[in-house]
Amino acid sequence: MTESKPLTQLSIVVPIYNEEPIIEELHQRLTAVAQSITPNYEIIFINDGSKDNSLLSIHRLSEVDEHFFYINFSRNFGHQLAVTAGLDVARGEAVVIIDGDLQDPPELIPEMYQKYKEGYDVVYAKRKQRKGESMFKKVTAKMFYRILQKITNINIPLDVGDFRLIDKKVVEALKLMPEQNKFLRGQIAWLGFSSTHVLFDRDERKHGKTGYTFSKMMQFAMDGITSFSDKPLQFVTKLGLFISFVSFLIILYACYAHFILHETITGWTSLIISSMFIGGVQLISIGIIGAYISRINKNVQNRPLYIVEKSKLPQEYKELANTPS
Ligand code: UDP
Ligand code: MG
Repeated sequence: MTESKPLTQLSIVVPIYNEEPIIEELHQRLTAVAQSITPNYEIIFINDGSKDNSLLSIHRLSEVDEHFFYINFSRNFGHQLAVTAGLDVARGEAVVIIDGDLQDPPELIPEMYQKYKEGYDVVYAKRKQRKGESMFKKVTAKMFYRILQKITNINIPLDVGDFRLIDKKVVEALKLMPEQNKFLRGQIAWLGFSSTHVLFDRDERKHGKTGYTFSKMMQFAMDGITSFSDKPLQFVTKLGLFISFVSFLIILYACYAHFILHETITGWTSLIISSMFIGGVQLISIGIIGAYISRINKNVQNRPLYIVEKSKLPQEYKELANTPS
């Protein structure tokens, strides 16, 4: 009789983009934490097209640690897809998603696991404070989540990133959401399940700089809004109605002024200002509609979410669908 392999209790999924100087430390700290929880764990690094030598370090680790697996993307696909790839292959009963820059302290994982054992399916790590991040990032992030909460019907918890522990059934449910533009923290909130949080102080980045450039952040914000709300489209319609109504009043006034007061409203200035105003409003509206169309377009193309260049994965994932043979 063949001995059945013990269940993997814990998977730790880590997206990696230019984190070479800390990969060793990251691996050590994650291993120590995982071992304190269970001997049946796995750590999965997803190298998201790093431009430094992250892959080399990752490869070295994979040769010495049997609990360690990795996926190497063919190029940079972005943080959300790196996490998605990790979730696609994670086998754990509980899966932790954690940033690879040590801003999320691995030492918080046992506390999160404790909550999971108490019966929660989603355990968020909620930031008490964010050290070493620019005022601009803090203010825009705060604004974004407040706006998102206002215009979506789902309750995305405030001040949490993607650092969290989720139950296997949440992972399976996420796989049923095939959308191209991922917004995982929103998707997980949308799924429901019982959730709680643990508090932590977010550390500074130890080295390097954020991989989230301004344009990636904008794209992420747009994905968040377009995947969970039609309110911008309704806003455009309301704006159109409002402007039509106001211009109707101005027409009435113009007629009144011309026929009754005998004072024709004149001027190039008023004409140009009003046409520029309406031009601006129209362009913004087209932009908003365009954002939704671009989303539809991506989903209709239905391309693979990411391409794997090479990987070390457990036996059952040897045939990972997106790996070109
Ligand atoms: N990351 C990634 N792909 C990217 C950008 C970032 O996999 O295109 C990883 C990065 O290595 C880190 C995590 O995602 O582990 C969070 O990124 P970052 O620290 O740059 O974001 P921030 O903490 O500034 O929001
Ligand atoms: Mg970071």
